[in-house]
Amino acid sequence: MDLSIVIPLFNEEESLPELSAWIEKVMVENDYAYEIIFVDDGSTDNSWQIIEELRATNCNIKGIKFQRNYGKSAALNEAFRAATGDVVITLDADLQDSPDEIPELRRMIIEEGYDLVSGWKKKRYDNALTKNLPSKFFNAITRRVTKIKLHDFNCGLKAYRKKVVKGIEIYGEMHRQIPVLAKWAGFRKIGEKVVEHRPRKYGISKFGWERFVNGFLDLLSVTFVGKFSKKPMHFFGSWGTVFFTIGLCISIFLVVSKIIDASLPLTNRPLFYMGLTSLIIGMQLFLAGFLGELISRNSPGRNSYIIEKKTGL
Ligand code: UDP
Ligand code: MG
Repeated sequence: MDLSIVIPLFNEEESLPELSAWIEKVMVENDYAYEIIFVDDGSTDNSWQIIEELRATNCNIKGIKFQRNYGKSAALNEAFRAATGDVVITLDADLQDSPDEIPELRRMIIEEGYDLVSGWKKKRYDNALTKNLPSKFFNAITRRVTKIKLHDFNCGLKAYRKKVVKGIEIYGEMHRQIPVLAKWAGFRKIGEKVVEHRPRKYGISKFGWERFVNGFLDLLSVTFVGKFSKKPMHFFGSWGTVFFTIGLCISIFLVVSKIIDASLPLTNRPLFYMGLTSLIIGMQLFLAGFLGELISRNSPGRNSYIIEKKTGL
């Protein structure tokens, strides 16, 4: 199988026939062995019925339907488990991404050796104020924090080498951070291609302004988890030590000064409360570290490595 085309969708009934015909055209022109995996993320319109009708006319079309709306990340994750193509391409269902980009994306993976190629909607057909501007800001922060040189992390049009989609798990709302997840999993060759973007033809956008708040929080989680999930004590323990030491020094200073001069007031001094608070925070952080260690020790993913090669075994 050359290609798996993965399409998450939520209430996109109008776009599906057009999209599927367009993809088919590109596949036939290039003579690819392919599959199209539609993931219906709990649509309440006729999307699933249309997918079944399309499957009746083209056996390369496959479908997964969720019981309810779990979100784009869950849809992508499920399709990645099912995909069998050497290269996996993700595409939004709303016709904003052009299937004509697929051959070049595939070529970059196969011939130029990229693990992941992300689309870059350089000229974007969305609302400038509510989407394009905040998105620029979000991308700039993500670029800085993760040191991945991409302009458009959240582009729905992406291409992956098969072992990348099999090696990462997209949980929560992490579809905006897939390049980061891939980098943490050790896939370093991440590239970018300017892609054509088109205005939404049917229906409405499924994400509101809260995407930027959530996107930012997810960025914090993903960098924290990527760095410390296997060793939570290194984070909590070091800050715990800092706070506890500060508290201890203040307490020792206060006790010594009280011994030297018994008339000095103790409990009505700000320093006393600062020392006390610092000691408590320090201990709390240690406690959080120990709990984190227990959780990570018992988590099923504690030893999940991706083995690249073996010899003599
Ligand atoms: N989508 C989904 N589940 C959701 C929300 C969206 O599968 O809960 C799909 C949606 O149908 C579309 C893609 O994710 O195919 C991108 O969504 P949308 O076009 O609304 O996002 P935007 O282009 O506004 O960023
Ligand atoms: Mg869209």
